[in-house]
Amino acid sequence: MTVRVRFAPSPTGHLHVGGARTALFNWLFARKSEGVFVLRIEDTDRERSSDAMTEAILHALRWLGLDWDEGPFFQSQGLSRHQADAQRLLESALAYRDFSTPEEVARDREALIRAGRGYRPARDRADALGPEEETRRVEAGVPYAIRFRVRPGETVWEDLVHGITRFNNEDIDDLTILRSDGTPTYNLAVVSDDAEMGITHVIRGDDHLSNTPKQILLYQALGKSVPVFGHVPMILGPDGKRLSKRHGATSIAEYEDQGILPGAMVNFLALLGWNPGDEQEIFELPEIVERFTVERILKKSSVFDLEKLSWLTGRHLSRTPASRLEPLVTERFARSGKTSPEALTGRMDWYLGLIGLLKERARSLDDIVEQGMAYVLHEVVYEEAAVSKHWKDPQWASAALDRLGERLSGCPWLPEDLESELRGLAADLGVGAGRLIHPLRVALTGQAVSPGIFDVMVLLGRERTLGRIGRAVSAMRSKGKG
Ligand code: GLU
Repeated sequence: MTVRVRFAPSPTGHLHVGGARTALFNWLFARKSEGVFVLRIEDTDRERSSDAMTEAILHALRWLGLDWDEGPFFQSQGLSRHQADAQRLLESALAYRDFSTPEEVARDREALIRAGRGYRPARDRADALGPEEETRRVEAGVPYAIRFRVRPGETVWEDLVHGITRFNNEDIDDLTILRSDGTPTYNLAVVSDDAEMGITHVIRGDDHLSNTPKQILLYQALGKSVPVFGHVPMILGPDGKRLSKRHGATSIAEYEDQGILPGAMVNFLALLGWNPGDEQEIFELPEIVERFTVERILKKSSVFDLEKLSWLTGRHLSRTPASRLEPLVTERFARSGKTSPEALTGRMDWYLGLIGLLKERARSLDDIVEQGMAYVLHEVVYEEAAVSKHWKDPQWASAALDRLGERLSGCPWLPEDLESELRGLAADLGVGAGRLIHPLRVALTGQAVSPGIFDVMVLLGRERTLGRIGRAVSAMRSKGKG
């Protein structure tokens, strides 16, 4: 049997972290079992769905590298099949017409709170109607919904994640499957579509657990084979509450925008709910495919840890060659409006060297761009925090950097030579090298962090390094006076 799984997002918003993880787990399961990954856009909520959101979801899936084999199909295109399925259930008395008025519905709602299990007032009313009155109403055009007649007993399935799961059918309300306006409800549409598409495994979030017995009952009533279900635990924020905007960005688009690498994002999503079984944390997508098993999906919720995402991005940046990062970084430099792509790629060796150095400490593409500005632009901008931390003693530092500038002017421009000059001066001044390096770093980059200072000097070249030292000396002198 070929495994067929699907991802079925509703295009009512961006692809969020939980949805992306569901997509990833389905995709991994399909790839691992050489099955088929189907994409179905559940656009039956016409008012809240939009083409722009469909596009955004497709874009996010592509960005993550989750390619689909079939689709995208649109749920709205199955409308006549959904209606036919509801009709079929009606004809076989597995569903009934519900003529309840809004007042009756409101009354039922209150009565349900007080009533015990298995109280089904709408069904009772429908059954009391009698065939003649029912026909009369249908012919008179009285609006009705179609409700599914939940059978007595128990609904049991073996969940891929949670094992044997049971629901007492008395706890399941007779669900509406077709509204009075002829539109299907989620549970009917999903079952009709999954059956039509031959879906063998339904992997989705725990938030759908209570829908599953309803869907199983519908499959049985429609005479379709029931797929295997697996429910992945929810993602929680660090405070233990369900992940929401309060915890930071939740849509994949926002992370793309922030310069998170897609490889880091899928690595992060995979670890949110899947345990590789050893200490390894950094994975490329093909490696995850190789190692993924449903048995290792965690039963308990996982906590969304932004710090971890940023750490993983750092690890992925570090292992990605500068040449592969270059187009992404260039685009972001260009977006800043402060430099042009040609100015960068025109001196490609130097530029790749810059990316190569910066990517080792960066935790996003934006980090590379922000730090890189100091090298790309002519002028260096002193960050206030860096200045107040490392130019605390401007009189001493300006004198020291002034002497450093003199010593470096005749020095061969190689890291080892630059280092021995700087260390020589530190020894002469009777201080540790750090006393010179920190103010020098601010002078050269404006920032408190940078790659190794000697690499920075090589990257800037002699002229710019000496120029920046000179400018810092003047800046400190005027600061000292002020
Ligand atoms: N459109 C539903 C959702 O986004 C699909 C649920 C399912 O996988 O059945 O929640």
